[in-house]
Amino acid sequence: MARDTYTEFANTGFGRTLTKNLGLPQPAKLRRHRPGRPLIDGPVVVLGSSEAASALADRLLSWDLDVRRHLGPKEKVAGVVACFDSASSPADLSETVLEIGMLLKQLKPSGRVITVSRDPQGTSDPSVRAARSAVQGLTRSTAHEMRAGGTANGIVLADELDPSAPGVAGALRFLLSGRSAFVSGQFISVDSVNGALPQNWDRPLQGQVAVVTGAARGIGASIARVLHRDGASLILVDIPAAGEQLAAVANEVSGTALQLDITAENAGERILGHARQHHGRLDIVVHNAGITRDKLLANMDESRWNSVIAVNIESQLRMNRAFLASDLFNSDARGAMGPRIISLASTSGIAGNRGQTNYAASKAGVMGMVSATADQLAARHGTINAVAPGFIETEMTAKIPFATREVARRLNSLNQGGLPVDVAETISFLASPQAGGTSGLTLRVCGQNLVGA
Ligand code: NAD
Repeated sequence: MARDTYTEFANTGFGRTLTKNLGLPQPAKLRRHRPGRPLIDGPVVVLGSSEAASALADRLLSWDLDVRRHLGPKEKVAGVVACFDSASSPADLSETVLEIGMLLKQLKPSGRVITVSRDPQGTSDPSVRAARSAVQGLTRSTAHEMRAGGTANGIVLADELDPSAPGVAGALRFLLSGRSAFVSGQFISVDSVNGALPQNWDRPLQGQVAVVTGAARGIGASIARVLHRDGASLILVDIPAAGEQLAAVANEVSGTALQLDITAENAGERILGHARQHHGRLDIVVHNAGITRDKLLANMDESRWNSVIAVNIESQLRMNRAFLASDLFNSDARGAMGPRIISLASTSGIAGNRGQTNYAASKAGVMGMVSATADQLAARHGTINAVAPGFIETEMTAKIPFATREVARRLNSLNQGGLPVDVAETISFLASPQAGGTSGLTLRVCGQNLVGA
């Protein structure tokens, strides 16, 4: 992983003054989740007078937070939850939007703005859909204006969904917490009342068995560590050539290692067999293994194209068929925690990227697969989602030449690269019982990349 010396410098006293005076990017040290530490350190103001506003204020109070409807002029605020769910015309938004504006000046570092609205597609009334869409535009723009490590994101409720559904609470808690440090300008849609609040918020995956592919290093190893911390038992998969590193990670997280090339015809069956033998169950699948073989399309050869498609998407389609045909895949779903599949996409798959026709095709394919498989998971009370990382500090991105890397790293609203743990936290959230109302979604962990979609 390459050091981000600019961010280190910008966080020294002298660096802060210099970067500010020269108008240079000011990457802040982001607030990240630590088990046992408070969810958020300061008051949370709930704006709006809708049904969701009172349901969410009650929910925040039940977590012992300092919940306010107003804030004194000298006070600082850590989070703002702005409820627009009853808006039926864009003109209805102004009062609450202007209140957010006032509070931004009092927001603490790594503060949070969270908008709550209804799904625009859930209505055919032009005025209502305009209001709901407008909330998304204002949320994205607010995210671009956040400072000092702050983020702005939205929760989008299906049309008739009760705002006290567990999925809404789960999304709210994730977005307030340090788990979402590198998620900004994004929306978490909650479509159903499925899911459940965990008994212990620090161990939401207790009793679950998860498989993570490509777990020997990078983002995969970080996913393994975070799922372990959150209570899951782990099966770690990687190619035989990475066997030693895989064993080391497996030891660290008290998991079992399975040396396997996921492009093998029977990869899904091999994972199921291993799960049956060593763990007796399988609840969570994280399709993380992925490769890049970059070339401009004019110079693309068959092997580069085919290998990326085979590893990044065809293998996942094949393994999912095996998992969904098996009784072992969350056979004894307890309560509302059905099976979970989370797949790694990429912002390249959304915006495209020069030299990455093969990679972007595979990652866009992942997003298509995820949305098309949601119904099959729903039949088992489960979910499938994708996570699309932007620039993440890994061995992969450390190989990018210095100047290109420095530009790529700064081109997002947080002016820095994300860490593997940021991707892992989002995956763990989507794997958790409290995310049971969200399926078929691609959630970006990109600090609101300024390039592309
Ligand atoms: P990495 O190259 O560091 O690690 C990938 C792991 O997958 C390696 O351990 C590798 O051995 C394993 N793997 C590759 N082919 C395999 C196969 N056929 N069978 C089993 N294991 C295999 O990559 P990373 O940066 O940690 O990325 C992890 C995932 O995140 C990938 O899907 C990648 O496309 C995605 N992603 C990464 C970034 C980033 O900035 N690093 C950005 C967007 C998306």
